[in-house]
Amino acid sequence: MHEEFPTDSPAVVTCGLPYANGDLHVGHLRTYVSGDAYSRALDRIGQSVAFVCGSDMHGTPIAVNAAEAGVDPETFALEYHEQYESTFPKFNVEFDNYGHTHDETNTEMTQSFVRSWIDGDHVFEKEIEVAWDAETDQPLPDRFVEGTCPYCGELARGDECDEGCQRHLEPGEIEDPVSTITGNPAEYRTRPHKFLRLSDFQEYLQGFIDRFEGTDNARNQPREWIEGELQDLCITRDMDWGIDFPGEGEEDLVLYVWVDAPIEYVSSTKQYTERVGADEFDWEAVWKNHGTDTEPDGGEIVHVIGHDIIQHHTVFWPAMLRGAEFNEPRAVMACGFVNLAGKAFSTSRNRAVWADDYVESGFHPDLYRYHIVTGSEFTADVDFSWDGLQERVNNELVGTLGNFLYRSLLFAERNYDGTPDAEVSEEVETRIEEAIEEFRESVNDYRVRGLGRVPVELAKFGNEYIQRHEPWKLTDNEPETAAQVIRDCVQLSKAIAVLIEPVLPEKADALWAQLGEDGRVADVEVEAALSSPPAAFDAPEELFEKIEDDRVEELNEQLEARVEAATADEAEAVAEGDDSDAGDEVADAPDFEPIADDRVSFETFSELDLRVGEIVSAEPIEGADKLAKLEVDIGLETRQIVAGIKQLHDLDELPGTRIVVVANLEKGELFGVESDGMLLAAGDEADLLTTHGDAVPGTKVR
Ligand SMILES: [Zn+2]
Repeated sequence: MHEEFPTDSPAVVTCGLPYANGDLHVGHLRTYVSGDAYSRALDRIGQSVAFVCGSDMHGTPIAVNAAEAGVDPETFALEYHEQYESTFPKFNVEFDNYGHTHDETNTEMTQSFVRSWIDGDHVFEKEIEVAWDAETDQPLPDRFVEGTCPYCGELARGDECDEGCQRHLEPGEIEDPVSTITGNPAEYRTRPHKFLRLSDFQEYLQGFIDRFEGTDNARNQPREWIEGELQDLCITRDMDWGIDFPGEGEEDLVLYVWVDAPIEYVSSTKQYTERVGADEFDWEAVWKNHGTDTEPDGGEIVHVIGHDIIQHHTVFWPAMLRGAEFNEPRAVMACGFVNLAGKAFSTSRNRAVWADDYVESGFHPDLYRYHIVTGSEFTADVDFSWDGLQERVNNELVGTLGNFLYRSLLFAERNYDGTPDAEVSEEVETRIEEAIEEFRESVNDYRVRGLGRVPVELAKFGNEYIQRHEPWKLTDNEPETAAQVIRDCVQLSKAIAVLIEPVLPEKADALWAQLGEDGRVADVEVEAALSSPPAAFDAPEELFEKIEDDRVEELNEQLEARVEAATADEAEAVAEGDDSDAGDEVADAPDFEPIADDRVSFETFSELDLRVGEIVSAEPIEGADKLAKLEVDIGLETRQIVAGIKQLHDLDELPGTRIVVVANLEKGELFGVESDGMLLAAGDEADLLTTHGDAVPGTKVR
């Protein structure tokens, strides 16, 4: 059992590292805004805390995209790193340290972790089958290969079932592997690799999952993963881009990206200490384990992540930390995804509100923060839309919060030049104490949404309190009562400023200044909600502005126009074929494979039952670039056949086409779809073989 926050130990709040491979959209920002709000809230209740993160620079997608862009991976990733570093402050996400996984601190830290595992005899070498592209003669680590998840049958990438069961996949596990470089089926070849023996940590992890805190999704999911025997984790890859495996004669192996990525949490904290000094914040007090296996002791480590990487943070990462004698996480908070106006973001269709779009809209960053933090429970998916933003801002921030603050402070300034000279009523004091308690509970229960709800509920109470007492009717006949009611409202305003700082940091500071307070809200703790505001302050300004309908309409039109343009571009590219590839083919003489030396007997050939078939229907398979699902009438029956023919053929035009089918081939499965037979087609483009005359479906081909 962990002590409640605040504790005497220092805390670290981290956010899942953004992967330096593309622009950020408002969906990505949910984790960072939530982590920022949570870290600020810990600070408000008096917890010593550092908020750290960094860019994830390694791994296959960056290597692939850098190669396509014609630059080296480091240059490619650094550009995104710098972009992220400048984007976060525009959303008032203020990390105490923001590094990246390719810097010197993390390279050294990662290699020291691996050396500790080696010293502790947790690393071993094993020959394994790795996916290989025969055409380009190269290994296909992780995202260079796609296929079927062996656990749930969904389309999966090499190292994760990101659209299905979310499991991490080890090299060689994926079924029906296809190279993402050439689109060809991948082969498997044997290579020696290094493994972290996770089974060494099974008992430890079983204790850990009963100890750690956080959101329910993060605490419940790992149980099924550690019930059976833990599969060892392959920690190396056949690549150039990454951190070298520390060891003689292992120069061609780099560490798997999921080794050095979480270690950046430690490295980034260390960099923070190096900047501010260990007296201010000591990274070792947080990360180094000063206790035992069953009673670890150190600081309070809280990871804020998206729910797609729970396994990494609740199974692999604690084992990695334990193996290097580091402290374990106290809590893992896993948030849901963000949808855009009810549908998933589609970056390929440009159906996204990019971080820059939001900045250019001119809306205050705190409005986005409020919308995303309070739009749903933290663990549930949340919807972002311009209409949704408008509704929440106009109703809650303008209607409830802004309205209460403005009318209270204006009344106070006009009648008393600031805070009236009166005592706060018991009713209001009690209500503020309750709000502080709810705020503390939200922190200790890892409910980020509560951090935004508590102060808005307080404003709702304030509006109701003013309506009930109607101070404007009291100023002449009952001046003392009027002064006391307004004194209460000023105190409520101050409490709101303190309690809303985690979610609306800049607006909270503006309110703080309106109350005549010095410094920033971040300088005080929640108890300040009950201390007296300065006696004098100036006339207030409205903190929030209504978002008008025509502004929302304009932004929606911009988004729609962009999606249409992207969809049209895509259609055009398909219709014209890919110019660059076509050019290559014309320029180069076709590189035919030689005729096979071995002849087969007529009997062998006769074993193939080839039939004329007629395509009845053809539809695409989601997620597969080339595959189509066909219904083919072969005379005696209709078969479902999956074939990679989309690159050349327009699926709408295929029904009615006669083709040749291998009818007695054993059944297969491609991308989780059963294929009962195979059709004949020529070349990489899969040019379909058809009949010249009018042979009817079912006719034998010989
Ligand atoms: Zn799966």
